Amino acid sequence: MARACAYCRTHGETLTREHLFPAFLDRLHPRYTVHLSSAFPGVVTSKAPVIRDVCKRCNNVRLGELDRFASALCEKYLRHLVKPGESGYFEYDYHTLCRWLWKLSYNKARTGDDDRTTYEPLVPYILRDSPSPPFPQAVLVGVIRADEATERERAVLHSRFIYPRLIRLALLARGGVFATTIRVGRLVSINSYMFWLIAWEPDVNRQRRRDLAERIGNGHGMVVLSEGSVDVHVPASTFEVRDYLARRFSSPVV
Ligand SMILES: [Zn+2]
Repeated sequence: MARACAYCRTHGETLTREHLFPAFLDRLHPRYTVHLSSAFPGVVTSKAPVIRDVCKRCNNVRLGELDRFASALCEKYLRHLVKPGESGYFEYDYHTLCRWLWKLSYNKARTGDDDRTTYEPLVPYILRDSPSPPFPQAVLVGVIRADEATERERAVLHSRFIYPRLIRLALLARGGVFATTIRVGRLVSINSYMFWLIAWEPDVNRQRRRDLAERIGNGHGMVVLSEGSVDVHVPASTFEVRDYLARRFSSPVV
């Protein structure tokens, strides 16, 4: 039997290539590979992989709306690098943002970094067939701190500052209390902005979820996005650009 579409589960449709990172991000940042590989030989930044398991209708129509939202968000806000000592800012629609971050995470999981079946219950939410996710979620955001470039870095980067010019999708490792309360923890970073997306275990009640999310935010200098807000000032997190670039990220939440 032919493979089913990863979103609508339809068989028999021609499956198209879904870019792991949306193509618009490549267009916004065509020189990323050059920047990173020349400045940081140890950092792997190959071109975005593609997965071929999404039907044309889901890719172009159903997920297209999410990509348009994300494209506007990146164009207007996330492409702008946050200078040392400054904080970030963006406007957002909470559920659309979460749906997009889950989409990226599900896509990444299908490349083999996690069990895809964990994410499959999220598909109706990602496609907006369901108004809310199948488990409680939280999303935090922080700015990866840029720094003054050294003389050598300046010569390579042609920039006074060293910035996190990259896009990264990763799993968050969970330790301590978070090992039993978080079902899925994902990281999505785009330039200066780092999002942590959390799906809670169903038995964690609302108050405890709120406390735990605050604890993560306080521990890492990140802010918990509020469902009722439309914009956010993003603080500088505890993550510094050189450290962030150097590690193959699987960061403990605690
Ligand atoms: Zn489909």
